[in-house]
Parts: sequence; structure tokens; C-alpha cells
Amino acid sequence: MMEKTPGSVTMEKIVSLSQRRGFIFPSSEIYGGLSSCWDYGPLGVELKRNVKQAWWRDIVQGRDDMVGLDASILMHPQTWAASGHLEQFADPLVECKQCHQRWRSDEVADNSCPSCGGELTEPHLFNLMFKTFMGPVEEDANVVYLRPETAQGIFVNFQNVLTTTRKRLPFGIAQVGKAFRNEITTGNFIFRSREFEQMEIEYFVRPETADKWFDYWLEERRKWYLNLGIRKENLRLRPHRDEELAHYAKKCYDIDYNFPMGWAELEGIANRGDYDLAQHAKHSGKEMTYFDEESGEHIVPYIIEPSAGVDRSVLAILCDAYDEEIAQGELRVVLHLHPTLAPYKVAVLPLSKKENLGKFAREVYDDLRQCWMVHYDDTQSIGRRYRRQDEVGTPYGVTIDFQSLEDNQITIRERDSMNQIRVPIATLKETLAAKLAGQDLFVLPEGGQIWKEEGT
Ligand code: ATP
Repeated sequence: MMEKTPGSVTMEKIVSLSQRRGFIFPSSEIYGGLSSCWDYGPLGVELKRNVKQAWWRDIVQGRDDMVGLDASILMHPQTWAASGHLEQFADPLVECKQCHQRWRSDEVADNSCPSCGGELTEPHLFNLMFKTFMGPVEEDANVVYLRPETAQGIFVNFQNVLTTTRKRLPFGIAQVGKAFRNEITTGNFIFRSREFEQMEIEYFVRPETADKWFDYWLEERRKWYLNLGIRKENLRLRPHRDEELAHYAKKCYDIDYNFPMGWAELEGIANRGDYDLAQHAKHSGKEMTYFDEESGEHIVPYIIEPSAGVDRSVLAILCDAYDEEIAQGELRVVLHLHPTLAPYKVAVLPLSKKENLGKFAREVYDDLRQCWMVHYDDTQSIGRRYRRQDEVGTPYGVTIDFQSLEDNQITIRERDSMNQIRVPIATLKETLAAKLAGQDLFVLPEGGQIWKEEGT
């Protein structure tokens, strides 16, 4: 067999792996796909859920100063007048008079169409919100929008959350949900799509402490990605230039990831000041203040907003984890996913399909799947099965052989080191639990054996 040289990660490799192994498919593919919409397949849905779960665990479950929310996607249209989206959420657009393709005017160098060379129109503003109608009559009075960000659902519920939870400043409201933007230029796989998911925190603080909390969240959020195994050299913090700042922002930093197509935004962290609460108070006529018992004053808190994309996180995680190595003279594609994120935590692999072995292996499988997403595979050679699991990032393989039936011991194989150890079945769950929790219990038990995977 020809020796292949391991190469670096490219978007083509990620797209191909995603499709081949069931992470991500083009939306409505049998009809030719729907531009810039994507479906998460059996493995992708697990990875994506794990990202959201890790975020929720760290942001909501693990903190005293945070509560969750799940607001509806459709909101009162006044929301978007107050937020500024009706007026401001627009990109200048030019249209080719010949082929009628549209382009963002800042993306065309001269006045000719990048596609056919035709003449372009003057720029006009194009609103990025998707419009639809509420109820059976399609008239202006019934227009509603698909939310372009989850944040507004949090702002309009500020008083509801405050009175029901009796939180004191500083505190935050966290939400994960779909957002929709009729982006003009999409692309780079799931990096920029028209339907995507956000994980947003709106953190309410006393105005004079806003700078301090901004710095705090910048660091917290950077650490979050590092803790999930993203390589330090692939993350950077980038301050927005004044002319880049959104209409509501006093200050903004992006956490950028070094994607195959270059550095690009993974998460934005903004100091939104009192813009949102003040705007909603003005448009709704409702109080949007916080009563400060110490001073006896009503204050409008400032808001620090760490706003992350679920899909962009998934893409960054896949790119970061992707690796090609030569193992036993063959190319091994492996996703070094953090165990928290891996779609399957364990694969149960009986060495033979023979009935007694299969029965034993299924019992192990049924036991383990009560705790984790576990995959069962009894087809093809064991070497091939290991490779298949490597490629989708399964951290541990559990191999059951005929000797297991006699001595009640089974083999655990580690994805990254390819080391294998044999342990009594009675300790399997606890060993795996410790390993998945990041403890290094992969040490040789007394009288045990450790060895490197052999050729396939
Ligand atoms: P960009 O400059 O890339 O258009 P943005 O600054 O408009 O992004 P925000 O409004 O700050 O994005 O949204 C917060 C997060 O939501 C982004 O950091 C990104 O992760 C995610 N996001 C925004 N737009 C999209 C999109 N079209 N597709 C996928 N994720 C998106």
C-alpha cells in the first residue's frame, strides 16, 4: 500500500468527513439542497447537543448569578423597531443589471459584476430579517419577523425574570436558540448560514462596573473554548475598530478562531450599555429598571453580552480536532475530540459475531448505554472498526474476545494513544467514567497488561 503523507486540515476535508460519516448534510439534499441551510445528521446532532450542554452546564447550572430562558422565535414586531433592527440591520447591496445577482457593495472592487462583468446598480439597503405573516391574511399589519438574534427575547423578559427570581445585580440571563438572517453572502460550510443557533448571555451590571465585567467575560469565554480542548494558538481576541461597532455597542471584542479559510469570528463580546433596556422602555412604555435597595434608586443596568454561535463552535471544534497520522503504515484520520463533546463516548466491539460472544457484548453495551451514548459495531476487522471510531472521535473502544468469556476481563483501547489495557469487567464502568471525566486512571492494574495496537 502507498504511504500517504498526512496533510493539514482543509474545509474540503471537514465537509467530506461531515457528510461521509453523518455529521452534517446539505438541507433538503434530494431537491438539490437549499442554499446555506444545513441538517445535522446522527453524529452531528450529538456533537451539537454536547456543545450546547457544555455551555449550559458551565453558564447556567454552574453559576449562582445566571438563569436560563427559552423565548419564542416570533416576537411582537415592535421589538424590532425598539432594537433598531428595522432601521439598522441592513447591508448595502448592489444588483447586476444583466444577471440580477446581488452583492454586498463592500465586496465588489469596481462597478462590475464579479460573476458576469455586467453593470451594477447604485447600492441600496437590504434588511437581513426574514419576514412572514401572522394569521391567514398577508397584509402589512400582520408582518412578523423570524428573530435575527436571541438577545431581544431576553431584554423583553428582563422584568419577568427579575420579579420571579429576585436576582440582585450583577446577574445574567442565558439562552440558546435559533436565529435567522437573510445573509447576502453565505458560505464556508456552516460558518455563515441563514438559519443558525446562538448561545447568548445578557449580563446585567451596575453601569460603573461595566468595564470590569466586560474584561471578566472576555477571559471567561476564552477559557471556555480552551477547556473544551481548542488549541490556544488557534484563538485570538480582536477589538472592534470604532467604525465596526454595531449601533448599540459601546465596546466590542471578537473571539476569533483560525478556521481553514483564515481568522474569523467565533463569538462576539459587547458592552451594550443601557441601549436595549432604554429603547424597550421607550417603545413599550414599561419600566425597565432595577431598584437598588442600597441607594433607594431605580437604575438602568448596563449589559455585557457574550454572544456565541453554536454552528461556528461546531465547525471550530471539528477543524481543531481533525488530524491525519500514519499508523502501522496507513493513514489514520482521527478527531481528537474532547470526551465531553464526542458524539459517542464508547464503542463496544466484539471480536466475533459468534452467538455467545455477541450476547456477552450486548450485555456490556446495554449496561454502558445507560450512562453514555455508546456505539455497537461487530462488522469487519477490528482494525477497521478502530479506524472508523477514530474518524468520528470516539475516545474509547471496548473489545470483547473469547477469553473475556472465561476470565471476565475486557480490553479498553484509547483513541489518542492507541494504548490498550485489559481490566476486569466489574471495574469497566468506573474506569470509563473516570477517564471520561478527565482523570488519568489509565494505569496498569496489578497483574494487568498494557500494549500498543498491532497492525490491522
Ligand atoms: P459576522 O460579522 O460574521 O456576520 P456578526 O458580528 O454579525 O457576525 P453577531 O451579531 O455578533 O454576529 O452574532 C453573534 C454570533 O452569532 C457570531 O459570533 C456567530 O458565532 C453567530 N452568527 C452570526 N451570524 C451567523 C450566521 N449567519 N451563521 C452562523 N452563525 C452566525
